[in-house]
Amino acid sequence: MSDEDLTFEDSYRDSDEDVEDVEDEDDYVDDDDTDLNFTDVVAEKDRKKNYEVDFIVHSIEGIVKNQDDEVTHVSNILGIQKQHAATLLRHFRWNKERLIERYMEDSTEVLNKAGVITDNARTPKFIKIPGFICDICCDDDKDLDTLALSCGHRFCKNCYEHYLTQKIKEEGESRRILCMASKCNVIVDEKTVELAVNKDIHERYRTLLNRTYVDDNEYLRWCPAPSCEYAIECHVPQTSLTSIVPTVECVCTHRFCFGCGFPDHQPSICVLVKKWIKKCEDDSETANWISAHTKECGKCHSTIEKNGGCNHMTCRKCKYEFCWVCMGPWSEHGTSWYNCNRYDEKTSIDARDQQAKSRASLERYLHYYNRFANHEQSAKLDRELYNKTEKKMEEMQQTSDLSWIEVQFLKKAVDILVQCRMTLKWTYAFAFYLARNNQTDIFEDNQRDLEMAVEQLSELLEKPIEAEKIAELKQQVLDKTVYVGSRREVLLEDTAKGLLESRWEFQVDIKS
Ligand SMILES: [Zn+2]
Ligand SMILES: [Zn+2]
Ligand SMILES: [Zn+2]
Ligand SMILES: [Zn+2]
Ligand SMILES: [Zn+2]
Ligand SMILES: [Zn+2]
Repeated sequence: MSDEDLTFEDSYRDSDEDVEDVEDEDDYVDDDDTDLNFTDVVAEKDRKKNYEVDFIVHSIEGIVKNQDDEVTHVSNILGIQKQHAATLLRHFRWNKERLIERYMEDSTEVLNKAGVITDNARTPKFIKIPGFICDICCDDDKDLDTLALSCGHRFCKNCYEHYLTQKIKEEGESRRILCMASKCNVIVDEKTVELAVNKDIHERYRTLLNRTYVDDNEYLRWCPAPSCEYAIECHVPQTSLTSIVPTVECVCTHRFCFGCGFPDHQPSICVLVKKWIKKCEDDSETANWISAHTKECGKCHSTIEKNGGCNHMTCRKCKYEFCWVCMGPWSEHGTSWYNCNRYDEKTSIDARDQQAKSRASLERYLHYYNRFANHEQSAKLDRELYNKTEKKMEEMQQTSDLSWIEVQFLKKAVDILVQCRMTLKWTYAFAFYLARNNQTDIFEDNQRDLEMAVEQLSELLEKPIEAEKIAELKQQVLDKTVYVGSRREVLLEDTAKGLLESRWEFQVDIKS
């Protein structure tokens, strides 16, 4: 058991209402080892969760060093110059093992195909040759600097500089710049480029090479956050993406899917995310209509705008309290939350009886889309809550004797809240494609539990602060934050395990 679980249990131990939740929790994560001796605690902490993957974050310097190491390694093994080893590696998209294997089988063919002629006696340099005439510019000045690649095609320095600058600056080319002679497929090596172009262009060339190093490498991906320059290494192959959602986190704090580069979309697998986004785009008219940010009060019909992440709405005019998702009266929501998160199969059957099938499938889609869009919208509003929270934290410091550190729990709560909204959002895309079997009930239960906990935390965070109740509020927020986090973990763990065990059936082909 982790620290969080312990805190969670401790804080709920004396509350009768929540005893059931604690037992639920035990069912899912802790069914065999109930003894809390020290080794168990350590073992549980070290054990990787099914929804987590290993990854390493690399800086640009790290990326450059990795490349150099690989080049040096291959250069030593194959006994060729570094610039040629680099060209070969790029040709093989940095698959070192395959390069070495193929090279051992037939080095001539490998070198030919990659555009490399090895001549270890030769180092690229500019020299003056009496009587030389450049084939491109026809210059025959006796002081002309000239250079030939391993293919022997010789040109003047001006032509090299002009050609390479054009390729690098205008065309963004780096790893496949060919010799200037027509029909020659020898690649201009790194050393030659360095000699021939000015400092700025060379820097640009290195940047482009670094970019292709990451782009070409199956196990590397740039962090997609704007102007972030880190790359992530993760060894989950593309072929595993139907059974795992490899969420990684950059040092810039951006969380995204290593498989597709999209922001974290656990528990939905990449292919479902792609299908879902496309579907939402295609049905954008309806979706736009649905996601309109205002609704009518069920009683007095005045227009109500949502201004916080919480679903508990109160009409300003008539004080009617209702649920933003289902529009039902809020008073009924204490016990009947399932009305809001579960697509009621009976309702759907009734709907089909009355209406055409296409209408029913649209309604089914809208059911899931509504909830998906609602969490997205709420998460946006919750982010605005950050600003409000900052103010609240200052307020708390002034009205109580809590220090700045001690009020950080509010920020942490908002972090968890936003993260859970993202998870919930994607549970609806997942659920939309899920085929009903005896496993789906567990999923829906987990979804409902998380959703309920999230709404409670959301409501708690929007409460105005009363000076005399700060200690109480802090405890409530702390408890709820831990609880919400643990519900999210339970849901993600179960869906991830289900994916690995092929326990879920989908209504669409996930292999295509
Ligand atoms: Zn020339
Ligand atoms: Zn050539
Ligand atoms: Zn980043
Ligand atoms: Zn993905
Ligand atoms: Zn009203
Ligand atoms: Zn509702």
